Amino acid sequence: MNKTMNNVKVSCPICGGVIPLPDDVEVSEIITCSECYNRVVVERIEGENVVLSEAPEIEEDWGQ
Ligand SMILES: [Zn+2]
Repeated sequence: MNKTMNNVKVSCPICGGVIPLPDDVEVSEIITCSECYNRVVVERIEGENVVLSEAPEIEEDWGQ
């Protein structure tokens, strides 16, 4: 099998915008959506089908 995956694109789970992925994308990689700037995490890769989910919020220090 010598199929080239070029320019894999998936929809952002938050805004629905298209996120281009590198072809060496890996599970649990964090990608920033270029449209809504939210972080999404690669949940799993099934062939050409890449499943993204919203990355957990990083807790900010609000300086209470
Ligand atoms: Zn987005």
